[in-house]
Amino acid sequence: MLQPHAIPQALPVGAGHLVRTCGKAADALMGSRGCLFTFHRVAHSARWATLPNRDFYIDLTFLDQLLCYLARTGWQVVTVEEALERAARGRNGDRYVNFSIDDCYRDTFEEIVPLFRRHAMPVTLFVTTGIPDGTMPMWCAGLEDALIARDRLTIDGETIETHTAETKRNAYAATAARWDGPEAGARYDRFCRENEIDAAAVHRKHAISWEMLEALRNDPLVEIGSHTVSHARISSLSPQDAFAELHDSRERLHAKLGVAARHFAFPYGRSGDCGQRDFDIAREAGYASTATTRKGIVRAGQDPYCLPRNPLNGAHRNLTMIELHLTGVTGAAARVLGRV
Ligand SMILES: [Zn+2]
Repeated sequence: MLQPHAIPQALPVGAGHLVRTCGKAADALMGSRGCLFTFHRVAHSARWATLPNRDFYIDLTFLDQLLCYLARTGWQVVTVEEALERAARGRNGDRYVNFSIDDCYRDTFEEIVPLFRRHAMPVTLFVTTGIPDGTMPMWCAGLEDALIARDRLTIDGETIETHTAETKRNAYAATAARWDGPEAGARYDRFCRENEIDAAAVHRKHAISWEMLEALRNDPLVEIGSHTVSHARISSLSPQDAFAELHDSRERLHAKLGVAARHFAFPYGRSGDCGQRDFDIAREAGYASTATTRKGIVRAGQDPYCLPRNPLNGAHRNLTMIELHLTGVTGAAARVLGRV
């Protein structure tokens, strides 16, 4: 196990007890309860301060602590397949958690799966097949690496100075907001040309490969699902293009790994990013379930094509927020605030 250091791990005095008491009362009232978490990448604590896109990562030491905490407090970590079975069964007092990794970078293979293995817990990989195929521009990683390494960059034709961690974070956020969408690849190409960045080397450094996925394919603790071919926002596509993203990624996983993926996660995953049309397309493409990033918990009778998932990101460095996810408080608050 990793040694915890410098990360607050306890709930404020009294808060944990209150949340757990509410949770137990909720269990008794609501039967079974599942909480699905998702995240993208992990980072070691020592790198934290240097990451311009830190919300894309979860602290590896904290994740280790979280898995210990779940085991200690009686939550069972399960695959999506088993989560669906438990939701269908709806046994009173059943409590389960799933972790899914979206996109899948090299650290999924090198850090995340080994950590789950050490805990003897399963983990779900939602693979964007354009990553191991080398067809998805990895602009997030390329932009972040360049900001870490350099204090001056040309972005969208404008030269900017980024000498501090804060200016690097701000530059990342502003650029990502401009680039997000179908033009991202072209903008990243230009960025690489103007700053003499080797996009292929960035890809090799960060992408998960088919060889790595092949090595994970038969691991009983690894469940492999799909996350499109190109990480497109599915709701923005024509029905034909949306179907192709879901269908072709499933076919690709089958051709390369012999895996018949049963579960799919929508990129971005909020209400505006996927809706009923897209859930229907997923069913037609052969999936047994689809996951969103709408916060909430899974209860008995859950619609498998609109699974709630709670994103974990850089802000999750203590267990208080986790407890709020586990009890469904964050999902309820998100619905009240219209952030779904
Ligand atoms: Zn994603």
